[in-house]
Amino acid sequence: MTESKKAPVRAALKAVRGTRDLLPDQTPLWNNVETTARNLFARYGFGEIRTPVLEATELFARGVGEETDIVSKEMFTWEDRARAGGEGVHGPESKAQSLTLRPENTAGVVRAYIEHQMAHSGALQKLYYIGPQFRRERPQRGRYRQFWQIGAEVIGPPSSGSESPLRDAEILEMLAGFLDKLGVRGWRLELSSVGSYQDRVRYNEILRAALQPIRSRLCGDCQRRAETNPLRVLDCKVPDDQALIGALPQISDHISADSQTHFSAVRAALEACGVPYTLNPRLVRGLDYYTRTTFEFTVSTGLGTQNALLGGGRYDGLSEMLGGPRSPGIGFAIGEDRLILTLQAQQEEDARASGAPPGELLDAYIAPLTPAQNATALALARELRCAGLRIEVGDGSFKLRKSFEIADSLARHIVLLGEDEAGSGVFTVKAFASGEQTKIPRARLAEALHGVQSRGSNFVQ
Ligand code: AMP
Repeated sequence: MTESKKAPVRAALKAVRGTRDLLPDQTPLWNNVETTARNLFARYGFGEIRTPVLEATELFARGVGEETDIVSKEMFTWEDRARAGGEGVHGPESKAQSLTLRPENTAGVVRAYIEHQMAHSGALQKLYYIGPQFRRERPQRGRYRQFWQIGAEVIGPPSSGSESPLRDAEILEMLAGFLDKLGVRGWRLELSSVGSYQDRVRYNEILRAALQPIRSRLCGDCQRRAETNPLRVLDCKVPDDQALIGALPQISDHISADSQTHFSAVRAALEACGVPYTLNPRLVRGLDYYTRTTFEFTVSTGLGTQNALLGGGRYDGLSEMLGGPRSPGIGFAIGEDRLILTLQAQQEEDARASGAPPGELLDAYIAPLTPAQNATALALARELRCAGLRIEVGDGSFKLRKSFEIADSLARHIVLLGEDEAGSGVFTVKAFASGEQTKIPRARLAEALHGVQSRGSNFVQ
């Protein structure tokens, strides 16, 4: 190529701030978590729902609440212009419309529940989703602008039993089982009841009144929240505010007898299932739709200050807020990124304790000794992969020493394939864990390579 025809040198582009690529060394853990969720949720009768990433902004303004941090400052929202000829996103008649990348999935699921008239069957709907959500938050470890949630919703007309405290307990028990199955250590369930919608309205006023005399001594955010959304003051993390907030009236003392009875039944069912929990009367979730039971699971490993792994609660009035029929419900959203960070931190802890390297190894690396064996090596790899083994193939131009180095970093075994082996069908196999080298005939090779568990792997099947 002549000098004049060279492509111009450009600055390399990077992923947008707060978004990440998940590379092949990470995705096995993500897939494992998702498969575990799908299998477990199916056992509880949940079916998968996939809703669009794009929704009308109004859905979140109405559903999540105008005064919440999410809606007031964190959404990716834009005005979608009607195209020439009136073609907007909702068909030929549509006009310009405000659209938003979903910051959470419950509002979208309830919109779909209403749109597809799922209440008509009269049956309880159990729906789960796995997908990306978007919030314009300040990025840090465990907090991203595109992040994944695994969530589920149980919703239906009151006659379907959707209001029953048993549903709350079943969801919490399922979550505890999910974290245990993945091997998450030291999780903690924090539980509260924020009462019915009416209870919350009443408590909000009690709180507003109690905040008046102390307002000027609180942080700037709390001064604003004291006016706009007093409940959110309880969620403040500013150290200087804690003593004042701790002395405010507690919601548990202001919820109706009905809400108290409901909450006692949730607690009794959890105790019957042996699910441990801690009451946290200051637990205020960042979304306005919650009523009665609310909860959060936190962990001690790997997340630092962003230690909330998942959150959820009841939303008995959400369907009506979105123009649907009365349909109480309860749901949760697991922060998948944070769950993965926790599992990775645990794997590293385990690897340090056992001295084994973390990660998954392939079953074997096939090393052709000269380029003449390349085609035979590929055919052997095909045969072993068909037998369910995970195999990588080298290249006959590599020196033997290089083949061993690559094999040791990737696989549990190296299979040497020279002219002799190709002719006799008997292969020299070295197992790296034991250092043992053996000759194995082709017919027994797959069986021999299967055997041992991979080093340092703590994957759940
Ligand atoms: P929320 O929808 O706010 O109730 O959050 C539910 C869960 O999603 C939280 O407990 C976090 O684990 C996770 N989460 C929320 N926001 C983010 C974010 N910006 N980055 C990563 N995970 C998040």
